[in-house]
Amino acid sequence: MNGPTHPGPRECPGWAQDWALFLDIDGTLLDLAPEPQAVRIPPDLRSQLEVLAQGLGGALALVSGRPLSDIDRFFPGGFDAAGTHGVQWRLGGIATDPGPAVADALTGIAEWLRAGTQGMSGVLLERKPHAVALHYRLAPQREAQIQSLAARAAQTLGPDFRLQAGKLVVEILPVAAGKGAAIERFMGRPPYAGRTPVFVGDDRTDEDGFAVVNRLGGRSVRVGEGGETQARWRLASPDAVRDWLAGLVASLPRDGV
Ligand SMILES: [Mg+2]
Repeated sequence: MNGPTHPGPRECPGWAQDWALFLDIDGTLLDLAPEPQAVRIPPDLRSQLEVLAQGLGGALALVSGRPLSDIDRFFPGGFDAAGTHGVQWRLGGIATDPGPAVADALTGIAEWLRAGTQGMSGVLLERKPHAVALHYRLAPQREAQIQSLAARAAQTLGPDFRLQAGKLVVEILPVAAGKGAAIERFMGRPPYAGRTPVFVGDDRTDEDGFAVVNRLGGRSVRVGEGGETQARWRLASPDAVRDWLAGLVASLPRDGV
């Protein structure tokens, strides 16, 4: 299941309790679905994440393009998390976000995009608190049209916002958003500081997270085959990620330490 040139994470020496584990959600922990709200959450996954977080001294965070509200609905319990590609951020139950100015700035453009995509079947506008996403998984033939609409929208908003393309989705985000910055922010604070960062993600939007983790001497893991990546390890699929996590859980000490 691993690429020929990289050892699999199972072969990584000395994984265990000095890791700080950062996990993307869609396409990494969960299989991608035709629409974002149609993902299936495997029943044991939340409790496995909780056990792993405990085993890592609390150093486990979900790092997703999803808003925190989605993350909490899928994985209740207040996990540390970076939502909306790091625009929202939560550590030890305390969440921060850029506040209503960003949300307000996006309102007009979201309406403009909604009008511009009206009648395009298979195109889904997702209004997040601090971002707007256009999903076209069900209408991939519309890619060029959607990208150009989104580019015009971002241009209209000016330099405080940027475009970010993912797998059959394009988003307009605050310019400072990014998973790499979010991971770095965690790594500067306990219980993450001093640990070895490990980031597992599947998409172009995860590449700056891989770059940060590589720079910090950690382990970067790209999920899925193909695609240029800076990640140094690979897992074949979300299924493989879940097997790998189950293996980590099974290898934790059983004596309550
Ligand atoms: Mg993903």
